[in-house]
Amino acid sequence: MSFGLKELSILSAKSMKTIFEPFRIKTVEPIRLTTQEERCRLIQAVNFNLFSLHSDDIMIDLLTDSGTSAMSSNQWAAIMRGDESYAGSPSFYRFEKAVKNLMPFKHVIPTHQGRAAEAILFSLLGGPGKRIPSNTHFDTTRGNIEATGACADDLVIEAGKNPSLYHPFKGNMDIEQLEAYLATHAASVPCVMSTITNNAGGGQPVSLENIRATSKLAKKYHILFVIDGCRFAENAYFIQQREPGQRDRSIVDIVRDMFSCADAMIMSAKKDAFANIGGWLALNDDELALNSRDRLIQTEGFPTYGGLTGRDLEAIAQGLTEIVDEDYLRYRIRTNEYISEKLDELGIPVMKPAGGHAVFIDARAWLDHIPPLQYPGQSLAIALYELGGIRACEIGTVMFGRSADGTESPATLDLVRLAIPRRVYTQSHADYIVEVFEELATIKQDLPGYKIVEEQARMRHFTAKFAPIPN
Ligand SMILES: *Cc1c(COP(=O)(O)O)cnc(C)c1O
Repeated sequence: MSFGLKELSILSAKSMKTIFEPFRIKTVEPIRLTTQEERCRLIQAVNFNLFSLHSDDIMIDLLTDSGTSAMSSNQWAAIMRGDESYAGSPSFYRFEKAVKNLMPFKHVIPTHQGRAAEAILFSLLGGPGKRIPSNTHFDTTRGNIEATGACADDLVIEAGKNPSLYHPFKGNMDIEQLEAYLATHAASVPCVMSTITNNAGGGQPVSLENIRATSKLAKKYHILFVIDGCRFAENAYFIQQREPGQRDRSIVDIVRDMFSCADAMIMSAKKDAFANIGGWLALNDDELALNSRDRLIQTEGFPTYGGLTGRDLEAIAQGLTEIVDEDYLRYRIRTNEYISEKLDELGIPVMKPAGGHAVFIDARAWLDHIPPLQYPGQSLAIALYELGGIRACEIGTVMFGRSADGTESPATLDLVRLAIPRRVYTQSHADYIVEVFEELATIKQDLPGYKIVEEQARMRHFTAKFAPIPN
């Protein structure tokens, strides 16, 4: 019935201040509210390493979006249906059907996480002398490639390296560079990869046009094209919103298009499948599938469960039907934009535009009184916890500053990442996060630099002990 009003698409209108969370809450997890005094004591007791905190001492945990999603009532119901047969479980067939509905690959091989799929694939494709290019390899992907003796190369476009520059598809592969790369190295390249969205590059999307161009080049050289699809639904939403000619298409159509360009994919179900654990390797080549299943049996389990329980497979199958929901994706992406816009208004340097799963703050630029070797990112992350009980993640000199030869130098950037768990926090939590930053802005000059007093030779950020350097 019409009341003479033109239709108001209020939920999608940018002018609406409310982010409509397209779910209501049936089960709650209490958050224990702590005081600033208590938090200052707690962080000092763990030598200012945020990984060492107990998570129930945290009010808003933005450490990662991996495995931290809230499951739906339908996922919990599916879990009850999980069939734990060792071989041939109906849960596997439901999982396989759900994957194939979105990603048209011939073979679907479940694994306990994304990195297990990587380990299997690269044990077969990698090896000394091989080179694998990508827009940007995620760290476990790079780790699994390098562990075989192969070389992992990042060929993202120039704009993808500049945090303050706007570009709709900052995750795009530099096609010209890839062309030159393949012209020289094709004989030693077993596969070309694209990570959608580009996690290591800030959750920035890759356009459909770029995925097609990458695929075309790989085909030209008869090289496999593998998509790291962990955040495929977020990537599809960005394509729908930002790519010319895609606005009227459904997310599912765009997803199918993206994957029909590829010969294989690896996936972490801890991201865009709303599951707390799981992953898969999917591919078309029969022989590669046969060899992958051989490895799978050695390292993960029988091919119809691959390191997962039947109930995990059910949670993933159901999650895949929910992640492509446009109302969910609008809420998801809008939440990041909202936080990012508010921080920008406060004059805080943020990566632009906001990524699909996280908001990044340029801590080196914002805390410009702290030199990079005194870890401005770590200082900001500690202050967010002390002041607001928020746990974020330093992605900068603490994480990347130590070279294999033992020397230390500043990382390219000192960023702090606010990774947003899926369906977990509401707009009032987002407002709270902004408020903590607003408060921080008034005292940022007083935030100290830090020094590392103890560290491991590898992956030091997980266990390093810090001490503040008095101003
Ligand atoms: C998380 C992630 C992986 C690894 O998946 P896990 O399930 O954590 O092992 C691989 N690639 C990308 C882009 C990721 O975000």
